[in-house]
Amino acid sequence: MIYLDHNATTPVDPAVLDAMLPYFSADFANASSIHTPGQRARAAVETAREQVAALIGAKPQEIVFTSGGTESDNHAIFGVVAQHSVAQAFLPVRHERNPAPTQTRTATNAAPPPHRNVSSNPSSSLANSTSPPSSSFTSSISSTSASPTSHIITSTIEHEAVLNAAQALEQRGVAVTCLPVNRSGLLDPEKLRAAIRPDTVLITVMHANNELGVIQPLAEIGRIAKEHKIPFHTDAVQSAGKIPIDVNALKVDLLTLSAHKLYGPKGVGALYIRTGTKLQQLLYGGHHQRGARPGTENVAAIVGFGKAAELARHSFADDAARISSLRDQLERGLLERIPNTRVNAANAPRTPNTTNILFSGIEGEALVIALDLKGIACSVGAACSSGAIEPSHVLTAIGLSHDEAKSSLRFSLGRHTTAAEIQFALDTIPVAVAQLRALSPTYQKATAVQ
Ligand code: PLP
Repeated sequence: MIYLDHNATTPVDPAVLDAMLPYFSADFANASSIHTPGQRARAAVETAREQVAALIGAKPQEIVFTSGGTESDNHAIFGVVAQHSVAQAFLPVRHERNPAPTQTRTATNAAPPPHRNVSSNPSSSLANSTSPPSSSFTSSISSTSASPTSHIITSTIEHEAVLNAAQALEQRGVAVTCLPVNRSGLLDPEKLRAAIRPDTVLITVMHANNELGVIQPLAEIGRIAKEHKIPFHTDAVQSAGKIPIDVNALKVDLLTLSAHKLYGPKGVGALYIRTGTKLQQLLYGGHHQRGARPGTENVAAIVGFGKAAELARHSFADDAARISSLRDQLERGLLERIPNTRVNAANAPRTPNTTNILFSGIEGEALVIALDLKGIACSVGAACSSGAIEPSHVLTAIGLSHDEAKSSLRFSLGRHTTAAEIQFALDTIPVAVAQLRALSPTYQKATAVQ
């Protein structure tokens, strides 16, 4: 199978797997244990924290490991908003039926406070971490609806992890501005500046888009956010390991990473939290990661993430040059061989591995299946929206019609993609497109009158 779906996920690099394996067997200990095996696991986690920090120019203590990109996005967005006036909408509520476990977990064995109100809840700024609250609070969300005193700014082409988090906040009374992008998928920083209000508490704009590969002008957005002293979060899941990232140059305060997009394992990611950035923790539990994200660390996965980050840091310049040349070859070849075809957002700065192509007159999912049968794995868009009836929100946001969006396919190359594979794709895709178009009376009719 020729795998051209690296934006959905990447294979675990063999060196990453080798690094992880001991932590499933000989070095299985809990990284919080004080005995020697535990300390070995702790050291491995801290090495990984350094490796991940180095990939984005951060300090190790600014990295919090999470379960992946979705959790990191949610932590950043809910965490910052909850820090402001609407905190009561997001804090876990007291659960009277479940007090017992709390008594054993706190160092002092003190009884939980009778009622925890908003103002007494600690912030989870990593740099300034406070002791975690009693676990007599369940993870259920209060139904309290907040007054619209907080405002966040995002864009129409964000991943669902951001858009749906923003939507959930909106349902709780937070004002949300979703800025449009142009036909190239780019957000205008001046429009963002104009959208800032006195109550804006967060700007969240993704670095590279998962469907188009378009890279947003983050440094400019970061400068505007800084001028207005507004925390700035970016989802860098699709840019990390593909293009250089420096959190200081980009002036981001919060940044989301996911290991499985950069040849690491699934189910592990990180949130970069700039020193001094205040956000509420989402999970309540032990003291792991200074309380910012409690839960026994998944040592093997974290070690794999660290190794993947290190490999990416050392190889992405070479990878980028080689992969973008193959991607360009694929794009050029398909446009030459197939009429009525165009590259979506072709003129924007894009990640080296991604191309999104509109094949007029075909049903995207039918082409994905046809190519799958011929040995090529690609996608109609985001992995999680594949199979959805609605066309991609990203493609409609750049001005494509419903039909155009449904006729577009994403090919995302990777570190192991070869020239021979691209040649196979160039030989195979035109045949599959021609076969599908031959079955489409609408396409036949439309091209007959041209
Ligand atoms: N953000 C972007 C841009 C993504 O592409 C993805 C995954 O496709 C995510 C967030 C979610 O990451 P994870 O799969 O680690 O939860």
